[in-house]
Amino acid sequence: DAALAVPDKQVESVCPYCGVGCQLTYNVKDDKILFVEGRDGPANHGRLCVKGRYGFDYAHHPQRLTVPLIRRADAPKTGDFSMDPDRVMDIFREATWEEALEFAGGKLRAIREQYGKKSLAGFGSAKGSNEEAYLFQKLVRTGFGSNNVDHCTRLCHASSVVALLEGIGSGAVSNPVMDVTKAEVVFLIGANPTVNHPVAATWLKNAIRNGTKLILLDPRKSELARMAHRSLQFKADTDVALLNAMMNVIVTEGLVDQAFIDDRTTGYEELKKNVEGYSPEAMAPICGIDAEAIRYVARLYATSKASMILWGMGVSQHVHGTDNARCLIALALMTGQIGRPGTGLHPLRGQNNVQGASDAGLIPMMFPDYQHVTNPEVRANFEKAWHVAPGSLDDKPGLTVVEVMHAIKHGDIRGMYVMGENPAMSDPDANHAREALAALDHLVVQDIFLTETCYLADVILPASAFPEKDGSFTNTDRLVQMGRKAVNPPGDARQDLWIIQEIANKLDCDWDYKHVSEVFDEMRHTMPSIGGITWERLEREHSVTYPCVQEGDPGQSVVFVEDFPRADGKARFVPADIIPANERPDTEYPMVLITGRQLEHWHTGSMTRRATVLDALEPDPVALVHPLDLAAMGGQPGDVITIESRRGEVCLYARADESSPRGAVFVPFCYYEAAINRLTNSALDPFAKIPEFKYCAIRVKVGGE
Ligand code: SF4
Repeated sequence: DAALAVPDKQVESVCPYCGVGCQLTYNVKDDKILFVEGRDGPANHGRLCVKGRYGFDYAHHPQRLTVPLIRRADAPKTGDFSMDPDRVMDIFREATWEEALEFAGGKLRAIREQYGKKSLAGFGSAKGSNEEAYLFQKLVRTGFGSNNVDHCTRLCHASSVVALLEGIGSGAVSNPVMDVTKAEVVFLIGANPTVNHPVAATWLKNAIRNGTKLILLDPRKSELARMAHRSLQFKADTDVALLNAMMNVIVTEGLVDQAFIDDRTTGYEELKKNVEGYSPEAMAPICGIDAEAIRYVARLYATSKASMILWGMGVSQHVHGTDNARCLIALALMTGQIGRPGTGLHPLRGQNNVQGASDAGLIPMMFPDYQHVTNPEVRANFEKAWHVAPGSLDDKPGLTVVEVMHAIKHGDIRGMYVMGENPAMSDPDANHAREALAALDHLVVQDIFLTETCYLADVILPASAFPEKDGSFTNTDRLVQMGRKAVNPPGDARQDLWIIQEIANKLDCDWDYKHVSEVFDEMRHTMPSIGGITWERLEREHSVTYPCVQEGDPGQSVVFVEDFPRADGKARFVPADIIPANERPDTEYPMVLITGRQLEHWHTGSMTRRATVLDALEPDPVALVHPLDLAAMGGQPGDVITIESRRGEVCLYARADESSPRGAVFVPFCYYEAAINRLTNSALDPFAKIPEFKYCAIRVKVGGE
């Protein structure tokens, strides 16, 4: 009985799930985690949500991959997503590590030699450590020989990062979540932190109880609406109209911070001219809310002593995601609500290391620390640091996640290495993504479970789970934190860093990293933002905030106090106009699909659906439908419904949910048996190449298998 057992060791680490980055303690006995407790970390001060507290036993699940697997020559890549472990050996056979690595790396090398450097691509993962992300992108850039490396940031905040880099010169947050306790007004848009960043939501609730006014803007009425000062349930897809209307109010009523605009920004006149055409009266019918409500929240945000903006995927996952974020940045800049405690811009990061993986260069257009691949000086620096021939690094940005899938279909990408990602579940238009993965000449997948992507692999390399390795992880607050090994990987599963290095050496990289700290040390010498953070300091202090340029720097939790990290030190306004969703409802597909996450499950569910308590709490695929819509289609809560888009259909249980607006259905994307991304649209934001997960046309009927 785990509850009564006495641990024989305690290991201080961090939560493997969301970007809040709660520190926790693993209580371990006989190489098994008995239970988890919260620790006094800067982001959580002892608090944990249900995932952090109960989501640990996936690591000991009997379905863990424990031996390398190679696809049988006669096994068709049609994909079997039933997760039936008895069928696995019909498709794959066991192999030694020596054979599996030779097959995995040797075939990638052969493809590179036959079809050229750009015929390979790699997807890393925000579930991995900073060191794993760094080595993975280095392998793709030096071993594969191109910048075709990306990860799930492309599917979550890529548009926020593009807008932030363009506007203020940094893709990370300006202020930590905890600053909500210092804010007079919190402006929360397109985010549901109670579900997706639960401990952060508790700090927000504390702040509200102490007088902070929450302005909540979301097409879905989340639980926080009960505590909001004002809750604006605007129509999905109308963010730019709403935000431009707010800016119109601020400009016309003289609520701008002219001194801040004059001293610290450029491009204001163009923005001002652009928002002239967006009066609240004109935009109110488009957004489905009162003009007076727009005026009220605009005044409140602009005139408070400290207003802070936080946003989530409701902002970013649109074909106009970059424009949405541009408007939020402009709002903060025109009112001078940035560069002080309790103000600023905070895109709430979804995965525990999506910030760090992006910082470490797991993106196709930038080397580590957002140094652009097109800059010859940057390339020369990395060629020197990585001991590769001058002129050998690719000078063109690589392909992004969805672009890779299209390139496979065109025969341009022929081999892939996927570490810890599950594109067969997470990519939009997943049927198309699965067909693309199946069409590869060679697919290497490194993971801890037989994911839906593994079923399409040629070789599967069994890797280590979060509590089985040491590494650093960067949370949504730019806090670099130490994750520590608590238990050993099962069977013959290996450390991810070891596997990456072995594959790299099959591609002529000649690496010899003996400890994770050597990788971190190389990182800090190529990434100025963390230059002052040593491994020893991380071990001693558990966490350090960047920017931390020199050893001994305390780290900066609030940035842009005096200037912005752009060439002229000034932030830049970028105007945006309305661009409608790529696929609007029509008579054939009259409703809208919105996808997202659930409190108990995380992303594609490969970990949380194998965590006993979490799976018991939410065991079945559900669709959240407004009760009046459900009644109108003749259904009851608990009925099976079929949702269909132009790309596919799924069947799942209907749950009556008043937070969903009429005409829209919300579905979590964690259920393999009702993989909702079979239905989503792969249309991309032109700037960030992020797909439109938050809006596509569907029809719904009661019944189904
Ligand atoms: Fe883990 Fe996020 Fe929950 Fe904290 S809030 S315990 S980091 S899932």
